[in-house]
Amino acid sequence: MIGKLRVTNSLTRTKETFEPYNPPFVGMYVCGPTVYSDVHLGNVRTFVSFDVINRYLKFSGYKVRYVRNITDVGHLLDSGEDKISKKAKLDNLEPMEIVQKYSNDFHQVMATFNALPPDIEPSATGHLLEQIEMIKKLMANGLAYESNGSVYFDVTKYNESQDYGKLSGRKIDELLNQTRDLDGQDDKRNALDFALWKKAAPEHIMRWETEWSVGFPGWHLECSVMSTKYLGQQFDIHGGGMDLKFPHHECEIAQCNGAEGHDPAKYWIHTNMLTVNGQKMSKSLGNSFLPWQLISGDHPMLSRGYSPMTIRFFMLQSHYASTLDFSNDALNAAVKGYAKLVNGLRVLKEMTFPPEGPGQGEETQVAQINKMCDNCYHAMNDDFNTALTIGHIFNLLKKVNSLHTGQLGFEQLGKSTFDRMKETILGFTEEVLGLKQESTINGENLLQLLLEEYKNAKETKAYDKVDQLRAKLKAEGILVKDMKGSIDWAYEE
Ligand code: AMP
Ligand code: ZN
Repeated sequence: MIGKLRVTNSLTRTKETFEPYNPPFVGMYVCGPTVYSDVHLGNVRTFVSFDVINRYLKFSGYKVRYVRNITDVGHLLDSGEDKISKKAKLDNLEPMEIVQKYSNDFHQVMATFNALPPDIEPSATGHLLEQIEMIKKLMANGLAYESNGSVYFDVTKYNESQDYGKLSGRKIDELLNQTRDLDGQDDKRNALDFALWKKAAPEHIMRWETEWSVGFPGWHLECSVMSTKYLGQQFDIHGGGMDLKFPHHECEIAQCNGAEGHDPAKYWIHTNMLTVNGQKMSKSLGNSFLPWQLISGDHPMLSRGYSPMTIRFFMLQSHYASTLDFSNDALNAAVKGYAKLVNGLRVLKEMTFPPEGPGQGEETQVAQINKMCDNCYHAMNDDFNTALTIGHIFNLLKKVNSLHTGQLGFEQLGKSTFDRMKETILGFTEEVLGLKQESTINGENLLQLLLEEYKNAKETKAYDKVDQLRAKLKAEGILVKDMKGSIDWAYEE
């Protein structure tokens, strides 16, 4: 680790030096998806941002326990229906089939974008007992009340001794003014109170029996319970997209303070939104597209498809706390940038320091390259600035190119500087930014090209070439079959 990591903490609204409670251990909790539909590219941006944070902490020597939950109950639509329950009814499936299907899809999408899986991925339905326990604690502390089978958190009471709104910067009086009435939810004492337990309507299919009613837990509760269960009552980092700051994270803070008497997390990190023409990408706005559509190009807004690593590169070219606006132009620029990066890496990977080369290097070159390497650390240390880091990697790759063309001699670097440069470029690109090399042409396309050549060779009676190609393909386990008028192939059995 070179230098100190500084992190923008949404709770204090300042950039702070990162000091975990119990180094080298770091506990990080990130709110995961509600698995009732496909994740869109906006969701992917948030999870890729936290993937880089997780990767950099690990790269810096911390032992990270990364917990990302799966919300499989309790996240309500504006209509008051549970998202998963509604989808299950629509598709005539078990709610857990919906949960499984979209969890599988989510995992596949994240793997496609080369995100490391979390160390623990707990689900809300797997932690009902713990949620019920927390409700009881809040009731015992006088901060929750039962009303008609549902249990609510008493925000007004909590705010008498604590600060509800300290994360989002909202004031309770203003919030109360904004919510004039109880929106027909007569069970609550006050409009700002939020549900810890909801009595299930007769048609609601996800339901559990408690002393209050047959019902289901409120959405905010699961994260308070699962984060503290796996990371301890006070852990290091809690994250999610900006849109979760209020009310979700504000309510989490209130629940933990209400039950245990202190904030759950030391640092709150919020990622900014992926926008389309300046508007947040969201399913309900109808401006979202799915990751596979961006990869295949199969969407009216897209001029072509883009590879997963190009998309990841595009996302990392901006800082996580800035909005990132999607456009074909921006992605086409990313295609060029990413190709340049991959070309540089290919050259670097094949480059070795000449065995007989002198070891010292020239002072100015050595100093310059060491500074460029240090800059990669400084950029990531500056609140995980991936955009700046990419810039520094490109500066280093210019040096690689100069070595490649002979403008710069290996002896001007010396072995240890060369080794450090190589290690830094590869470490930051692959381990920290998670940009892995992907082939630009897939196996099937390559095979079709070879078969085309085989067909041409036959037609022009170039039999030597025909034999050569047949042998080459056989060595790869492919048997060429001459059919009448066409060429077919099969795997050798
Ligand atoms: P959801 O399943 O909708 O609760 O979202 C899962 C995660 O994606 C949350 O952390 C959201 O804040 C985040 N998210 C939703 N929309 C966007 C967007 N347009 N850009 C970035 N992150 C988003
Ligand atoms: Zn959450």
